[in-house]
This record gives sequence, structure tokens and C-alpha cells, in this order.
Amino acid sequence: MEVTNKYVATKAKIDGAPEESDFELKSESFSLLVKPGSKDVIIKNLYVSIDPYQINRMKTVSDSQTTSVFATMIVPGEVIDAYGVGKVIASGNPEFQKDDYVVGLLSWGEYCIYDGPYLNKLDPMGLPMSYYVGALGLSGLTAYAGFFEICKPKKGEKVFVSAASGSVGNLVGQYAKQLGCYVVGCAGSPKKVKLLKEKLGFDEVFNYKEETNLNSALKRYFPDGIDIYFDNVGGEMLEAAILNMNLHGRVAVCGVISEYTDNEIRAIPDMLSVIYKRITIQGFLAGDHMGLFPEFFSTTIDHLNTGKMHVLEDVSFGLEGVPSAFVGLFRGYNVGKRIVQVSND
Ligand code: NAP
Repeated sequence: MEVTNKYVATKAKIDGAPEESDFELKSESFSLLVKPGSKDVIIKNLYVSIDPYQINRMKTVSDSQTTSVFATMIVPGEVIDAYGVGKVIASGNPEFQKDDYVVGLLSWGEYCIYDGPYLNKLDPMGLPMSYYVGALGLSGLTAYAGFFEICKPKKGEKVFVSAASGSVGNLVGQYAKQLGCYVVGCAGSPKKVKLLKEKLGFDEVFNYKEETNLNSALKRYFPDGIDIYFDNVGGEMLEAAILNMNLHGRVAVCGVISEYTDNEIRAIPDMLSVIYKRITIQGFLAGDHMGLFPEFFSTTIDHLNTGKMHVLEDVSFGLEGVPSAFVGLFRGYNVGKRIVQVSND
């Protein structure tokens, strides 16, 4: 049976800040039948993830595009793959049956054909499906692996997290609080500051847009220095954090969103501080830590079930809303994990 599959594509390469007009909604004829002999899985997309890293795939050129299968260049006009949750319509793969829920690399479209290794069956266990895109999906694993594996935290340490109200950042702060750390976050609006302090239990939160000197702001919140910086933004915030790190401090470089859309912005960390304070600065990719998934998942489910952690998500409905949802990430419009629900179950 043939249907029309709508999908979101870029019109051309995007080398600056993205605009909604950089995207278009396209249509293609799509078969809901598996080709005889193929192992294809045909999926109806339910919830799709909206992630900042996609901008680096949309550029004319970026070093990141050759380093990971998740980061390959996006070709204008073509379907864009994206993490998400869907339902199997038909399958030539014996591991998946019609009506199974699945999570993995789907697309910014209504339907997709899956033939790769990054798909798993999903038992929602009575929780909202959207959780498996964010807090119980790759964003959660990013926060967990980045914090526990890369930062190697100890109880009582002083932790700073940027983009703290975002998908990854809010979870890092919550994991750090669970461990008994002192946690300070920064975020870009008074509403976000209030939410992080009052709902998620951060010790302190500041609005970085209201600070004229980030170095002084960090000195104010960390009079005894920072042990761990979980960096989501790069740029000036990374420079200021390095100046405030303690001896043997650890910096997990998860993302540098302030640098993604502007070639002129690049952090120049004070390397003398790095040397004399023996600071470890380490980039990482969540995809390299899939082995941690079972541990991350059971720990996080426990924390959610006992009310020790909360899910912060920002879900809109309708595929046509993907461009504005995506563009909004770079303007700070999201609070928590940005997800688009493409269709009802
Ligand atoms: P997110 O934090 O939910 O959304 C992006 C947030 O970044 C916005 O809400 C905004 O919040 C902040 N922001 C946007 N432009 C900024 C700027 N110029 N300066 C400072 N803050 C800015 O996104 P996410 O999915 O959790 O991702 C967070 C970071 O982690 C991104 O850099 C992403 O690329 C990275 N990441 C890395 C991995 C990995 O495997 N290494 C995996 C997932 C994500 P404010 O209101 O606070 O400005």
C-alpha cells in the first residue's frame, strides 16, 4: 500500500543561525509494504527528538561530520535522520513485529524505513513515550555518561552546569544533587532560573544574560572554586569556568552551542590555568557509552519512580512545527527536552 510521507528537509546548507525559512515540508510516495527478501522495518514515527547537534550536520563543512555515524552531513532536500520513538507498521526483520514500539534513529518525517543497527524494541512500562526520547533516551545517557564517566564526581564536590534548563543540563544537575554535590547552573531567563531552583533543587542558578562579567559571576557562586564543569555552551562561559576551576578539576565538554552558529565565537581557555591546576578537559560522545545504557536506565527509572528526579520536557504537536522547534533551541525558547509529537499512536 502506498501513502504520502511528509518530511522536513533543509533547502540548502546552513552556515549561520538557522531560520524557519531554511526548511521545507516535502512529500514523497511511500510504500508501507516490505520489499520481498529485505530486512527493512517500516515505522510510523510518533515522537522525534529536536537536537542542537543537527546544525553541525547542516553546515557546508564541519569537522564533526566525519567523526561519527550520527554526525554525517545532511543533504539538502533529503530526509533527515533523528532519534525518536515509533511503531512498526511492517517488518522483514525477525527481531521486530508489526505494532511493536521501537526507539532509535528514525527521521523528521511521518514514516521511515529502517535497515541499520540503531533500533531497539521499547516497552514503555506505563510511562509517557516522550520520556524515551529524552530523559530515558540519548539525552539522559549523555547526562549520565558525561557526569559519571567523564567528570568522575565525588560527594560534596562543587559542580557547575551550563544550559542547565536544557535537556542534558537539567539532568546533569539532578544527578549531581542525588550524589550530594553542591550544584550551580546557569540559564537564559528568570523563569528558567526559578524552575531549576524551586522544582529541580539546584543550590544556585544565575541568568548568564544578566551578568556583565562571567568570571566574577562564577567567583560569586563558587568562592572556593569549581571541581567539575559540565559544559554545554563553550565560548566565554568555558573561558570563565577554567579561570575558576580548582586543582585537578574536570571539564566535560558535552557541547558548545554558543559556537555552533557563529564562526567568530571560539573559546580561548587560559592554558596556564589548565597546566598549573592540572585540569582535565575531555570531550565525549554519548554514542561511545552505549554500554552504560542498562545502568543509566535502571538508576534513572528508580529516581523517577521515587520522585527524586523529575522529567523536564517541551513537547509540541505536528511535523510542520519541527523547523520552529529546532530554530528555537538556538534562541533559548525550550525548557527541557525539545520533542515533536508527529502523530498519535
Ligand atoms: P538544550 O540545552 O535542551 O537546548 C539548547 C539550550 O542552549 C537553549 O535552551 C539555550 O538555553 C542554550 N543556548 C542556546 N544558545 C546559546 C548560547 N549562544 N549561549 C549559551 N546558551 C545557549 O539542548 P541539549 O540537547 O540538552 O544539548 C545541550 C548541549 O549538549 C548542546 O551543545 C548539544 O550539542 C550537546 N549534546 C552533546 C551530546 C554528546 O554526545 N556530546 C549529546 C547531546 C547533546 P538558555 O536559555 O540557557 O540560553
